[in-house]
Amino acid sequence: MNIREKILVIEDEKSIARFISTILTANGYEAMRAASGAEAMSMISSHCPDLVILDLGLPDMDGLDILRQLRSWSTLPVVVVSARSHERDKVAALDLGADDYLTKPFRLGELRARVAAHLRRQHRTPQHRFRRGGLDFDLGEKAVYWGEQPVKLTRGEYAICEYLALHSGQTFSKEQIYEAVFGFDGTADSSAITEHIKNIRAKLRAAGAGEVLQTIWGVGYQWQNES
Ligand code: CA
Repeated sequence: MNIREKILVIEDEKSIARFISTILTANGYEAMRAASGAEAMSMISSHCPDLVILDLGLPDMDGLDILRQLRSWSTLPVVVVSARSHERDKVAALDLGADDYLTKPFRLGELRARVAAHLRRQHRTPQHRFRRGGLDFDLGEKAVYWGEQPVKLTRGEYAICEYLALHSGQTFSKEQIYEAVFGFDGTADSSAITEHIKNIRAKLRAAGAGEVLQTIWGVGYQWQNES
């Protein structure tokens, strides 16, 4: 099966955003667009793109702040495309974890080649493990560790933890978790989530982990960002 790789274009100038999206689509990628920092952060969490193309001059925040936030929890490849051509701007972006930096105006072929190169590199080094709230997740094994000790979760419990941890710092309702994890209509039996969460907490506690899985009253649940 050929699944198209998703690329999020964060750019407030409509003509440029449209232009880049058109090139990406023509090259077989699925292109999504965000015109502000807030929209970008929410789309990164909800759509899990494979790569991000990031403009630095956005209306509500600096692209570097997006990069800083993103790097606190993700290794997603980021290609900065900016009008800022000073050496210090490039260095700042690369220091914050940008994978690449293209100066506007850029050549089409160059953007295409760099996007392809970063996606290839990403495939060669799959991120099998990640850490959230002091717990280590192994995506291959589908296991969670507190230190060296595995937390004995059922498959459903693991799936809920993985989803919340991958989106740590965000709050999800029972219905949203149910739909995201089990793939059914969220109205079906989301009350099962309450039970799962209770069991997960008990197991985490028994393993010695902190209270990383928080209830946000009246809204839902959230995995704490700190590790
Ligand atoms: Ca801009």
